[in-house]
Amino acid sequence: MEYPELKEREEQIKKVIRAEEEKFQETIHQGLNILEEYIEDMINNRGKCLSGEKAFKLYDTYGFPLDLTREILEEKGLTVDESEFNAHMEEQRKRARKAREGFSDFGWENGSSIGLNKNYETIFKGYENVEWETEVIGLYFDGEIVDRIDEGEEGVVLLKETPFYAESGGQVGDTGYIQNENFVGKVVDTKKINDQTIIHFIKVKKGSIKNGDTVVSIVDRKRRSDIKRNHSATHLLHRALKDVLGDHVNQAGSIVLPNRLRFDFTHYEAIRDDQLKEVERIVNERILDSLEVKTIETSLKESQEMGVIGLFEDKYKDQVRVVQMGDYSMELCGGTHVDNTSNIGLFKIISESSIASGVRRIEAITGEASYDYLNELERSVDKVSNILKTNKKDLIERAYNVVEELKDKEKEIELLKSKMALSIADEILKAKVNINGVDLITYKVENMDMNSLRNLGDEIRNRMESGVIVLASVHEEKISFVSMVTKDMVTKGIHAGNIIKEVAKVTGGGGGGRPDMAQAGGKNINKVEEALNIVPTIIKEQLK
Ligand SMILES: [Zn+2]
Repeated sequence: MEYPELKEREEQIKKVIRAEEEKFQETIHQGLNILEEYIEDMINNRGKCLSGEKAFKLYDTYGFPLDLTREILEEKGLTVDESEFNAHMEEQRKRARKAREGFSDFGWENGSSIGLNKNYETIFKGYENVEWETEVIGLYFDGEIVDRIDEGEEGVVLLKETPFYAESGGQVGDTGYIQNENFVGKVVDTKKINDQTIIHFIKVKKGSIKNGDTVVSIVDRKRRSDIKRNHSATHLLHRALKDVLGDHVNQAGSIVLPNRLRFDFTHYEAIRDDQLKEVERIVNERILDSLEVKTIETSLKESQEMGVIGLFEDKYKDQVRVVQMGDYSMELCGGTHVDNTSNIGLFKIISESSIASGVRRIEAITGEASYDYLNELERSVDKVSNILKTNKKDLIERAYNVVEELKDKEKEIELLKSKMALSIADEILKAKVNINGVDLITYKVENMDMNSLRNLGDEIRNRMESGVIVLASVHEEKISFVSMVTKDMVTKGIHAGNIIKEVAKVTGGGGGGRPDMAQAGGKNINKVEEALNIVPTIIKEQLK
């Protein structure tokens, strides 16, 4: 027996799990980047202990466990203030408890737990209105049905009719005020129970709200407008994605907030830059076309015949709401929209990514957020122009020139370095001594890394007909030793590898190599001279 439904459900679950895993990895990765920044900061400022506040931020925002933070810090010889971290944890526990005692634990998801009237269908007036006079028909405080909620308290309000949009279809709930001459209540969120009862979460700012009160409910108009712009843009985006990528594109989820929108959709390969640009261009073109936005109430069957796109979530309702934007887009939707696409303002995509196999995500902004974004961008360009001491018009050319100049300077530095090495070589050659018939040079060079030291050794060996060279240098707290022996001296029994081994040992280091060439690292930078001083003895030993 086969169960295709089960198989489909299993695929769905797997997809969700994969998306969750990817999200988790992404946040952990972000946390890691931030921890690295903290560590760099500590190293630069000679700090030894990460503040508990920062460790808590890593934990709270990025799910970074304290153990992991501690472990990574320990690797760098750093610690974390655990008692401060624990204090923050306790603080958070207290806050969470308080919130539960407030209204989060009202069981609004299953209204029955607080005796909420499950059958009441709130009349939504918010498609045409942002302000509405109505009656209070239910109040809930501290998990109980009550007659009043007093100043300073938080509770839930049921209204007979409401202009407040309840969170659904990805669009966030409205905020605003419910008030009359006796009280002012701030609505912090609006949700829906059993798909029909709209509930308002309020904080009473002044006076008391009572059951049966006549009140005016006022939606935060600006916030609603921002949400409307972003929501309407998702419709144009959905259509434009189908136009550019193909009809297989379907909405897989969305979140519409006042300051941005997020649109997830099915598509099985990466989106090219030019495709994304084309999508953005089409959406902006439809905005400038000033398309009228109309809503039509119709039957589900009829809407399907009309070729409407969208999530058929309301498949058990016979009446559906179709939102039409000119001739361009027709979508099933219960959200709030602008009256004309021109109200959306500039539509700007700010990111595109894959969130699961076959599902991609676009984040975008509209209206005021786009304006702020452009201003921010302009400020950055101004700053860069300032730093590069040019005007915006010549910025790109200037940037190219600076990069070229840097390359030239690097070449110049390389040239100077090799010239310097030659003059150092002259100096070093003067330090030649004779040990039992062997020409020996031991020399401590200032601030040179292993590579440069080896090049210098080669140079000196080339200029010496016969002999032994041992060079040392301290660079970035690290000691490098290099030893070179000419061929004739190798046949006499001198071994560069064995010399360097004993020399490095004096400073607590180690290394070795071939009879003619060897290198090693050292530890104690105060013992470099002492180490070089034992070379004559080693040579005498090797000559025996
Ligand atoms: Zn909509």
